[in-house]
Amino acid sequence: MSIAFLNDSYMPITEAKISPMDRGFLFGDGIYEVIPSYEGKLLGFNGHITRMQEGLAGIGLGLQWTHEDWETLCTKLASENGSGNLGIYLQVSRGADSKRYHAFPQDVAPTIFGFTFDIPASPVANKETAKRYTVSTSQDLRWQRCHIKSTALLGNVLHFQEGYSQGNDETLLYNDKNELTEASACNAFIVKDSVVITPPLDNQLLPGITRNMLVDILREDGSIRVEERPVTMDEVRTADEVWITSSTKEIGAVVSVDGAPVGDGQIGDIWLAAQTLFTQHKYDY
Ligand code: PLP
Repeated sequence: MSIAFLNDSYMPITEAKISPMDRGFLFGDGIYEVIPSYEGKLLGFNGHITRMQEGLAGIGLGLQWTHEDWETLCTKLASENGSGNLGIYLQVSRGADSKRYHAFPQDVAPTIFGFTFDIPASPVANKETAKRYTVSTSQDLRWQRCHIKSTALLGNVLHFQEGYSQGNDETLLYNDKNELTEASACNAFIVKDSVVITPPLDNQLLPGITRNMLVDILREDGSIRVEERPVTMDEVRTADEVWITSSTKEIGAVVSVDGAPVGDGQIGDIWLAAQTLFTQHKYDY
């Protein structure tokens, strides 16, 4: 039985209860994070907590929790849940008011929730065993604050379902200029002529911790060129490689887009080099 944290105590997940008046439930008014923990070792912890603090500040939700407070919670949740391969989910909502009213309530304590779920073992840089992802594409119809990791994920859920209902693993999204933004729950990259290219950070995409670590690791290493610039969907369709990144997938190699093969339809050499470097350096962050 999974052990969860709610507000100030640990309990079996089935005993964790929140009010239906919670603004997380009524409005999706909250911020969340997912941090991988492999055998008790947290991956990208500082980046995840910094992004959550920025998200909370971005929606005007004051919470006096330090990195140390979050680290204590994550470490305890991991050990209470067996310290295997876990995703640690953290969520802060604006709390439960006595009425349903859009304006921020005064003197209402935020709701703090954490639980864990099992994730696969850390991805391995091996073309034979790596998962081969397939994706659909769709115009990005979410809101204009996609840099905030909000719990209001209906736009992402509907886009994910488009790809899923076509038998695919993800949906790549593009804006009204036919430029790639990200995927419904991942960031996106292409490779062309051995150059790794990903859209620049702005309000159209989440500043993914995996994306940022990968860009940094590749730049530090220097053997593969990296560009952050707009990417058109024509470039996606003619790319040598397409990748999707997230904390639990790390670098996912995409082998087909809308049913058409990416490059020769096989996992590429640049993916292998990038995932190898990522595996070597991911705990440096
Ligand atoms: N983009 C979206 C919309 C996401 O939901 C996620 C992860 O949940 C990502 C990108 C990847 O972010 P990270 O690498 O921090 O997991």
